[in-house]
Amino acid sequence: MQKKDGKIWIAGIESELHGQTLSSRELRESLANRKSISVLPDIWVIKMGGQSIMDRGAAAVEPILEELVEAKKAGINFILCTGGGTRARHVYSLGLDLDLPTGMLARLGASIPVQNARMLQLLLAKHGGIMAYPEEFEKLPFFLNAGCIPITTGMPPNEFWEKSSSQGIIPANRTDAGVYLLGEFLGAKGVLYIKDEDGLYTDDPKKNPDAKFIPKITAKELIENGQDDMIVERVVIEYMQRAENIKKIQIVNGTKRGNILAALNGSDVGTVISAE
Ligand code: ADP
Ligand code: MG
Repeated sequence: MQKKDGKIWIAGIESELHGQTLSSRELRESLANRKSISVLPDIWVIKMGGQSIMDRGAAAVEPILEELVEAKKAGINFILCTGGGTRARHVYSLGLDLDLPTGMLARLGASIPVQNARMLQLLLAKHGGIMAYPEEFEKLPFFLNAGCIPITTGMPPNEFWEKSSSQGIIPANRTDAGVYLLGEFLGAKGVLYIKDEDGLYTDDPKKNPDAKFIPKITAKELIENGQDDMIVERVVIEYMQRAENIKKIQIVNGTKRGNILAALNGSDVGTVISAE
């Protein structure tokens, strides 16, 4: 048996990473400009808001599904992801009351978007709606080539491994983040958030009638302007600043007919947040 540095060694296994801790700053910088492949570059990743849309029931959900089916029939391919909404907030507040750790809140919060995805799958079944659990993501090309609409949870599968948040114990990576990171991994065509406001404002328009609409902003400007609340999870804006693929996200008001199709056809409706 061959040995190198006292460890078992297989001839031919030499690589540039051999013996590296993978944490060296110099090594990481030397790899910084490497570009990875785009996995599904023609596919949109779309989030159906949980609190903002699903919880409004049929009146909000059905016209949006009609618009999405229209897009599908027009040849626009997408993966539909779900948010959690009010039921997720209930379990978070119960978890907070019981002093449960972040990892447990993330695990509990992961169940609700799956319920929402199941409902959308049934509603879209006749148009090819199919559940795509994260373990089945390798089958996404098959689902898409078969003309299906893959539906999945927006929640990233961190669960117990959800990182501690710098502010409080509510998981920072929830469904907006999961949807963004899925788009980033897939090298998707775009990431679209369907919510119930026209886009981003300077403050929550439901609470502050003086909030001003922001049609376009960079991630850096948005972090620097220090506004108290946002229409997407704060971590998404942080991730955008180190994006490889998804350098722009769009947020549209799905309760107004036509916005979703306009966005999928390339129009800057709603708010566009760009990496730089
Ligand atoms: P979702 O269920 O899609 O995740 P959320 O309820 O978490 O939706 O977030 C969308 C909501 O964010 C909007 O309905 C709006 O009331 C609120 N919001 C908070 N801050 C802002 C802001 N600066 N601009 C627009 N909406 C905001
Ligand atoms: Mg939300």
